[in-house]
Amino acid sequence: MGAYGRGSGSGDTIACANQKGGVGKTTTVVNLGAYLALAGRSVLVVDLDPQGNATSGLGIEKSSVANSIYDALCDATPPDQLIVRTSIARLDLVPASLSLAGAEVELAPLPQRERRLSRVLGPLTERYDHILIDCPPSLGLLTVNALTAAGSVLVPLQCEYYALEGLSQLVATINLVRDHLNPDLALRGVVLTMFDSRTLLSAGVRDEARRHLDGSVYDTIIPRSVRLSEAPSYGLPIALYRPESKGAEAYAALAREFLAREFAARDSLSGPALTVIAPVAFPDAPSSSAVAP
Ligand code: ATP
Ligand code: MG
Repeated sequence: MGAYGRGSGSGDTIACANQKGGVGKTTTVVNLGAYLALAGRSVLVVDLDPQGNATSGLGIEKSSVANSIYDALCDATPPDQLIVRTSIARLDLVPASLSLAGAEVELAPLPQRERRLSRVLGPLTERYDHILIDCPPSLGLLTVNALTAAGSVLVPLQCEYYALEGLSQLVATINLVRDHLNPDLALRGVVLTMFDSRTLLSAGVRDEARRHLDGSVYDTIIPRSVRLSEAPSYGLPIALYRPESKGAEAYAALAREFLAREFAARDSLSGPALTVIAPVAFPDAPSSSAVAP
């Protein structure tokens, strides 16, 4: 085992994805990751978004990053040299840098372009219990790399109008990746975010999501919380910024549910516990050009 990570190496790699912008991908990766680490798991957050919000949200100055995920994807920097520690024990980060903005174009002509991240993360999976990949808000090559490297996808769904519409596009891409690149990719779960209990709209999206996605939707719902939106400007997960806030309680509960589902899946003798997304689940799903046949 190297200097970083103390995991059992379960190889649990999770892509947090939704091509809609601002739905809570980064907030979920940072705070779920933090609470899993506080619960004793070793966690690696991989910032695959050129915006670098997970990097700054975990208190790492983007301009001071020596090696970012870009250097490994496009320049063959060894994975060992990418990892930085965060303010939470057992929570490490592979940061993003501004150069990641050019990665989609640079990766495009390379052989095995969809499998670059998978190769980078391969040696790291044995060191961490969970690797959480924060995807950019698109279904381009970076997100396809994340879906190819991951065992499952975690989808934050903002409790807003149009939330479910975008989902069919995401599911189409997940199904294409399963067909061509990563047959074992499963849906880990859907997290309802920014829930506002005062609005009928939030309740409507919650009910719709549960109706369409059945058991995939986590019982834990993340409420809209000013504290959650403030925490990144201090470079801290909510667990360190305002542990007593409603948003903190919600992400702590999400981590507990995440772990409980994992235990239940392990104990289950009735085959794979993770839902595999049926291609028929969203009949209106458009095809995506991001995945090479
Ligand atoms: P992008 O697609 O741009 O990467 P994202 O899906 O990663 O966005 P976040 O960055 O996590 O979304 O959240 C978008 C904005 O909403 C941020 O300013 C964040 O601080 C805020 N936010 C996230 N979750 C909540 C919440 N539960 N309550 C209030 N604000 C939130
Ligand atoms: Mg983000």
